[in-house]
Amino acid sequence: MNKILSFIFLLSTIVVAAQDAPKTQNVILVTWDGYRWQELFKGAEKKLINSKKLVKDVDALKKNFWTGDNVSSREKITPFIWNTMAKQGSIIGERKKASKMKVTNRYRFSYPGYNEIFSGYGDPKVNSNDFPDNHNLTIFDLLQADEKFKNKSVAVATWDAFPRIINNKRNGVPVYVNIKDSAGKCTSGNLTFEGWNEKCPASNGFILTDSLTYRFAKEYISKNHPRFAFIGFDETDHFGHEGNYDSYLHSANQLDSYMQDLWNFIQNDPQYKDNTTLIITCDHGRGKTGTQMWRHHGGLILPADKIWLAAIGAGIKNEGTLKQGKFYQKQIAATIATLFGKQFYEGKKIGKPISEILK
Ligand SMILES: [Zn+2]
Repeated sequence: MNKILSFIFLLSTIVVAAQDAPKTQNVILVTWDGYRWQELFKGAEKKLINSKKLVKDVDALKKNFWTGDNVSSREKITPFIWNTMAKQGSIIGERKKASKMKVTNRYRFSYPGYNEIFSGYGDPKVNSNDFPDNHNLTIFDLLQADEKFKNKSVAVATWDAFPRIINNKRNGVPVYVNIKDSAGKCTSGNLTFEGWNEKCPASNGFILTDSLTYRFAKEYISKNHPRFAFIGFDETDHFGHEGNYDSYLHSANQLDSYMQDLWNFIQNDPQYKDNTTLIITCDHGRGKTGTQMWRHHGGLILPADKIWLAAIGAGIKNEGTLKQGKFYQKQIAATIATLFGKQFYEGKKIGKPISEILK
């Protein structure tokens, strides 16, 4: 090859390399346990918000979240998702617009859902919230096996099943959980990061464990700058089961404010700004409307397979609310791997990346 030709060859490899370099350097994945697509897309549900059985103070709750109109009600409950993520990123699961997202596991409860999110496989063997250490390899294992990502992941969550779901004995990923003790009191339990020993704050008589999870996660992330962080919140599911519609909506509203705060932090942090992706999703849906079925989820509650996903930041298209397509929970792990420029584990039943939202 003469000098000119080799120079052109060199130049073209540089161009190709630049095109191939992933825009995403960091991903923060957040889950809101059991938050329904109904409230996310349609706002407060008339039958539920007017129920004196489900709501302690109907007038006060309606003042906060009821407008009589789906769009403005949803913006009151989750303003960051609708005013920022929907305008700059992509949202999946608006069933009225024919964008559908489902879990593929048959159980429609938490451990099977989180396994599907992390491993890309709705494994029929993973059938209990008490399931032991997860035998499936996950996005955490994939990243730990790569020198560029090794020891740069973390998980912080309100539920103590996550060390088993992530199987941190196998991969060494730090998993901090924030649990309630047997008396139902919050304990800082396994949140052992640099002397954290806080009492859970309470509000309106409720112990706000998710607020502790968030504050801990943010402190960890801002000090350590992990490349992959998972934050698992739980109160939406907890208050749903209790049939506490006011606390369920207030929790979602609170989680949305954490997301706003997290995004502000990301976009003002020199290491994260413009190269970080934020993904929010849930582990399962809940029953349909009606005063009882919305509270629960599980194998017999078929509509609980319906979920949603919102994404913003590096590598994510600005599609707004997707108007069509069928998507699955098992696609999330491969989507994260693709954002990092990596190939996820392959297998007949493992989901493919959601290319519709990827740049
Ligand atoms: Zn539940």
